[in-house]
Amino acid sequence: MLIPLTIDINIVNGNLFLSGEFREGGISIEGERIIKIGKEPSLEKASLTINANGALILPGLIDIHVHFRDLEQKYKETLETGTRSAIAGGVTSVLDMPNNIPPTDSALRINNKIKLIEEKAASNIGFYSLIPKDFTKIEEISNTGIFGFKVYPVSELYPPKNDLQLEIILKEITKRKLPLIVHLDNGYAGNNEKNLFDSEMPAIDAFLKAHNQLDEANALDSFIKVCKKTNTQLHCAHVTAKETIEVLRKNSGSEILSSEACPHHLVLDENNLRKLGSQAKCLPPLRKINDQKALWEALNENTIKIISTDHAPHSYEEKHCEFKAAASGIHGLETLLPIMFTYAQKGMISFESLIEKLTINPANLMGIEKRGSLEIGNFADIVVVKKEKLKINSEEFQSKAKWTPFNGFEVSYKPWKVLVNGFLAKDDEHIHTKARTGKILKKKSNRLKLL
Ligand SMILES: [Zn+2]
Repeated sequence: MLIPLTIDINIVNGNLFLSGEFREGGISIEGERIIKIGKEPSLEKASLTINANGALILPGLIDIHVHFRDLEQKYKETLETGTRSAIAGGVTSVLDMPNNIPPTDSALRINNKIKLIEEKAASNIGFYSLIPKDFTKIEEISNTGIFGFKVYPVSELYPPKNDLQLEIILKEITKRKLPLIVHLDNGYAGNNEKNLFDSEMPAIDAFLKAHNQLDEANALDSFIKVCKKTNTQLHCAHVTAKETIEVLRKNSGSEILSSEACPHHLVLDENNLRKLGSQAKCLPPLRKINDQKALWEALNENTIKIISTDHAPHSYEEKHCEFKAAASGIHGLETLLPIMFTYAQKGMISFESLIEKLTINPANLMGIEKRGSLEIGNFADIVVVKKEKLKINSEEFQSKAKWTPFNGFEVSYKPWKVLVNGFLAKDDEHIHTKARTGKILKKKSNRLKLL
């Protein structure tokens, strides 16, 4: 007998987020798609009915900035554990960064990553590429369905040695209507860090100086200049500095520009870094309270329209050692929703704006079709969010990285039930997957307007 590939589900008696507003009602799912939205009596009969008991029924979150490692860094995270971590956090679609070992910088390597995960993906997943050393390969790489090219000015993985070369690359990328995603930092930050670590300066001060706010803002300034020339979409990853936000504001009318902020920069600051050391080491670093204030303002005035995690898992040893040697990056997927919703409850941002920055805006920026909003005909990627007081406990994470500077934080919301393509992948504490629960996302549409 054939096992049916699809199931029929009704989620009833909830608080639905529809076109920017909350409305009481329910939702019917047939196969992979949403087929009806409305009050319970008007919904189709379903073989499974989930009573939301007044909980929030939201589009599954979309995180356009994760690092799932795998390949030669399986010990940190794999594409499979990463997608399970996403589901555990209520995140139904992720875009995976290319700074892997070996680097994701060719069509072959992107297709290899797709092959590694396509049977086993718990969440939907798409990919980015690095800029290849041979620029003529940009077309071939674009054709694999990637969502953009990532550049790390600070790293050897970043090939352009001057603006002229960068311009040639950008013209190629722009032809394919893909964005350039930048990690804003000084191109010499790596060297500066090494020299400062070797000096008398305390390690944390050296780290903060090597990756300072002004360098972040200056990097943005120079990328804007060159991207304006070539009309390239420029997306700024993890903005942190007050100075950077000022540059974003000055260019707020620009159609090519977009940016994101991460929960750890919104909630933690330099004091947490000094207290927690290696555990809170990340790039860009945790900033001053003034920067943090500016970041919340930028979200609330809608200068920054997207929230991402920069989920960057590392092993226990890499996060529990001397600061200089510790790896930069922290777990993000399973704390995103509880932390951010708790801060919305505290009044730091409206729930409506927060949800848009976690769902429809990332979908529209990256051209992720039929996801990011609850609409008839869309894929049934849904998170039911329950109000419940609990403490972040990193030992329960699905990710291989079972540590976070948020450990023990008291939160008021949790992703209770998560559906991906109509499949109930998370039911309270239980994660369920089947073959291809999540799909491989490929870039098909162009950028749409952000809210
Ligand atoms: Zn990152």
